[in-house]
Amino acid sequence: MKALLVVDFTNDFVDGNLPVGDPAIEIQHTVAELTKQFADRGDFVVMAVDLHEESDLYHPERNLFPPHNIRHSRGRELYGELKDVYESRKDVIYWMDKTRYSAFCGTDLDLKLRERGVSEVHLIGVCTDICVLHTAIDAYNRGYAIKIYEDGVASFNPEGHKWALSHFKNSLGADVVKSTD
Ligand code: ZN
Repeated sequence: MKALLVVDFTNDFVDGNLPVGDPAIEIQHTVAELTKQFADRGDFVVMAVDLHEESDLYHPERNLFPPHNIRHSRGRELYGELKDVYESRKDVIYWMDKTRYSAFCGTDLDLKLRERGVSEVHLIGVCTDICVLHTAIDAYNRGYAIKIYEDGVASFNPEGHKWALSHFKNSLGADVVKSTD
């Protein structure tokens, strides 16, 4: 059994308060299409979405990034085509708030995957070298096989993006593929 983890593809991360910009806009169709395919095939799909509280004085990202993905804000809504795909498949897609880079940190993701007998996680979303990277590292440490769609991940940092793709492959043993393969 496999699962698709869609990481942080929200307005704030695409063209809002902490934007990846063009590289994220360019992958939006692939992100939406893969989500649709996995959900319609009956695979487990997780929408892993950063959640911050405006009043939280203690969050470590407070000193690193401008406010983003604040609860109930438009910035935290899914971006573009993905929003439509999610809205029409809400009953089968698992929405999961997360408060750290990794989708495994402080969430019940590992339990949800094991309940379903998932052994392979496929990753798309942003940013390749931050939240996707940290999620992939945690998946690796928990013994999951990993597949990364290189045309389904993006970063504001082209060097970081490139480095992360090689790290997935060479250090995490991930299968780095194209969605069209
Ligand atoms: Zn954040």
